[in-house]
Amino acid sequence: MTVGIIGAGITGLALAHHLDGTETEYVVLEADDQPGGVIRSGRVDGYLLEWGPQRLRRTGPVDELVTDLGLDGEVIEAGDTKLFVYADGDLRRAPFTIEEFGHTDLLSWRGKLDVLKEPQTAPADPEETAAEMFTRKFGEEAYENLIGPLFGGTYGSLPERMPVKHSLSGVLRMEEKYGDLLTPVLKRAMAGGSSAPAMSFEEGVQQLPTALYEAHRENVHLETPVTGIREDGAGYVLETDDESFEVDDVVVTTPAEVSADLLAPLTESADALRRLNYNPLAFVHLRADSDRDGFGYQVRHDEDLDTLGVSWNASMFGRTGRSDDGADEAGGVYTVFLGGMKKPELLEESDETLGDIGATEFAEVMGTGAEVLSVNKLDRGFPAYDASWDALEEFETPDGIHLATNYTARMGVPSRIREAKALAERFAE
Ligand SMILES: Cc1cc2nc3c(=O)[nH]c(=O)nc-3n(C[C@H](O)[C@H](O)[C@H](O)COP(=O)(O)OP(=O)(O)OC[C@H]3O[C@@H](n4cnc5c(N)ncnc54)[C@H](O)[C@@H]3O)c2cc1C
Repeated sequence: MTVGIIGAGITGLALAHHLDGTETEYVVLEADDQPGGVIRSGRVDGYLLEWGPQRLRRTGPVDELVTDLGLDGEVIEAGDTKLFVYADGDLRRAPFTIEEFGHTDLLSWRGKLDVLKEPQTAPADPEETAAEMFTRKFGEEAYENLIGPLFGGTYGSLPERMPVKHSLSGVLRMEEKYGDLLTPVLKRAMAGGSSAPAMSFEEGVQQLPTALYEAHRENVHLETPVTGIREDGAGYVLETDDESFEVDDVVVTTPAEVSADLLAPLTESADALRRLNYNPLAFVHLRADSDRDGFGYQVRHDEDLDTLGVSWNASMFGRTGRSDDGADEAGGVYTVFLGGMKKPELLEESDETLGDIGATEFAEVMGTGAEVLSVNKLDRGFPAYDASWDALEEFETPDGIHLATNYTARMGVPSRIREAKALAERFAE
């Protein structure tokens, strides 16, 4: 059996890795001239910047790849989860352990009691929004000051526009398993706050897809966009500009609008994929001197800032500068996120304006000046997981076609790798 994999992002490459050495043959076709998809790392003026994920969780499936690829020596682990919320004019530490919950100034005693009463509330309703569900179950204060900024910040999104059924399927499963949501939260808090440490690599997150590509490059074709998928007997032909590839099954890992185009000749329902919203996102990479320790902060929704959140790459992974001759440069990297579902119109601003906003607001919050290293825009950044996901109910997957994507399943890199591995196991069966 031969599988055609469209896209050499982390999903396509992890699938290739897990198919390698099995009886299933595969070919990966990638439009871009480099592997990794939205995972992009690189140096600007000697500073290592991330234009996609800033970090990933070192879960079992990630660790397996790290070991298989001999990347152990390249891993950088961040310390304890130390995240802040900017609220009422100050950075306040988000609690992840019992002790931190006791001390946090993000919640009053009444707010803390509301959190502890969660098991008495009615179960999450798939039809309510994430904001309604969190407010109803954990109280308004916990939602506004803590859960809203952290959950919304992860997706550059507004939880009041994210139905539970589209954005929190994992939470629904967790509630079913434990009977409530507080029990698993407390279990995690008692275990120290996080199930897996945050990590990156010496040369950034993209080192992982690059190493996957290097290990399997004989079956991965870069700069080879798939222009069409044609039925051919019991299988398919993948068309590219120069060559056609005959395969039995096809795994599609491309962004929703590309998948809609490719699948349109095979199913009328492909149009549904075109209706999925993505949140636009701008990144402003800054160089600054700060001795703040932690992962970064998210901004509470009602604060008068355009900044959604800031990643402290300098403190998390020691991202300081390095000149061409190897000498240390001053300061470290901070990544400001702008736009998102809250203010998509910001992406119409010039790079210069975005840089100014990022640096000025950073100085206001952190109390230290910053210099802009780079400004970038992603018109289609994060999947929005909003009401437009209703469209997926109309989508019918043609036989022999498999969608392995972050809009049909979970978004995080560990989840993408886990899905790829499970799919490889299904092919093996
Ligand atoms: C800005 C940002 C920040 C994120 N932060 C985090 C984080 O901190 N932690 C975390 O765990 N996750 C994070 N994520 C999520 C995670 O990075 C993504 O969900 C994941 O990398 C998606 O990988 P993928 O392979 O499924 O898709 P993609 O990376 O989108 O890969 C799809 C590939 O298909 C290719 N392609 C497109 N058209 C064609 C065609 N016609 N023919 C062939 N190939 C084609 C594309 O070039 C691309 O390489 C973030 C995502 C973004 C965008």
